[in-house]
Amino acid sequence: MNLKLAKRIEDLPPYLFARLDNLRREKEAQGIDVISLGIGDPDLATPNEVIDELAAAANNPRYHRYNDSGLESFRQAISEWYKKRFNITLDPNEEIVPLIGSKEGIAHLPLALVDPDDYVIVPDPGYPVYSIGAQLLGGKVYSMKLRPDCGWTPDFSAVPSEVAAKAKLLWINYPNNPTAAAGSDEVFQQAIEFGLNNDVVICQDAAYSEVTFDGWRPSSILNQRGARDCCIEFHSLSKTYNMTGWRIGWAAGNATVVEAIARVKSNIDSGAFAAIEEAGIAALKLDHSWIQARNNILQQRRDKVLSALRSIGLDPEVPSASLYVWTPCPSGHSSSEFAARLIEEIGVLVTPGVGFGPNGDTHFRISLTTSEELLQEALDRIAGLNIL
Ligand SMILES: *Cc1c(COP(=O)(O)O)cnc(C)c1O
Repeated sequence: MNLKLAKRIEDLPPYLFARLDNLRREKEAQGIDVISLGIGDPDLATPNEVIDELAAAANNPRYHRYNDSGLESFRQAISEWYKKRFNITLDPNEEIVPLIGSKEGIAHLPLALVDPDDYVIVPDPGYPVYSIGAQLLGGKVYSMKLRPDCGWTPDFSAVPSEVAAKAKLLWINYPNNPTAAAGSDEVFQQAIEFGLNNDVVICQDAAYSEVTFDGWRPSSILNQRGARDCCIEFHSLSKTYNMTGWRIGWAAGNATVVEAIARVKSNIDSGAFAAIEEAGIAALKLDHSWIQARNNILQQRRDKVLSALRSIGLDPEVPSASLYVWTPCPSGHSSSEFAARLIEEIGVLVTPGVGFGPNGDTHFRISLTTSEELLQEALDRIAGLNIL
């Protein structure tokens, strides 16, 4: 049989972390012990309250059945969380849609809004799923360069008018992956202005809004004037509560977009396991002190990484949020050359910035999701690296 995959799949680059994983396996097969500071997948524990709630809820036969639009009580808990966290009132039925992890919603959103040849505007560097979701549908991708001299924010006025006219979605992501940039209310306002002027839905990925340092707490794009008219904000329990494996998140904002996502999903999946949503409610009701304590651990790791990088003469950005330290490569190195050197010479895997777009090729990303012991070992190796 001559089995041919769909062109849309054949055209897809392999997912960045799958590629890095192969590289690691290759090295390990050569007997090199590799420490991965690559993927941002929290190593710290999911809160006990959440695990206990899942165990209890799993025993409830009511939750063994289809859960199409999600538990009403989960949407209610999200609405209450928004009220408590941002002082925003959201209608749990009209303005919130639960997701099976936010990646699922990010990838599926274009199905609701993008026709072939429509544009999706994405940040470069940026989370790869924004563009992959569009490409899978035959949408066109326009990359906005994030400007290092402006805190890794885009210049919305630089989007060509013919792109803006044919664009349906524009992605932003603050606090940012991979640059760890904070963003600002001003950037949110500029994005909304662009959205309203061009009939483009502004998609803000807030995956890292609760993973912050030095006590900083970012605002929501939905706090801005005009946001309900054009914005959808994605949240996830993955990074907020160390729950990447649980696959649970949501999108909130413009009611038309929320309804469209729900309609797409009703034709594709039949909701998350309700017991996981029940556990998600337990997470959202946790006291802020849990997040504070977890963020303190990450902040200590951040500080160790910053000082190790500075000790070899590098000049990392100081992250105010996210799980990442973003650093310019030593001069004369592209990000893939430098990442390859690190793996070859000291067995440390970092993510080359180019994996997030060509404009990221000047930098590399270190993730803070490795145990203290392994992180220290990796940092000792880095401290011994002769980068000249
Ligand atoms: C991790 C991450 C997500 C996805 O999280 P889910 O586990 O799918 O909820 C979304 N956006 C960014 C920028 C991320 O880094």
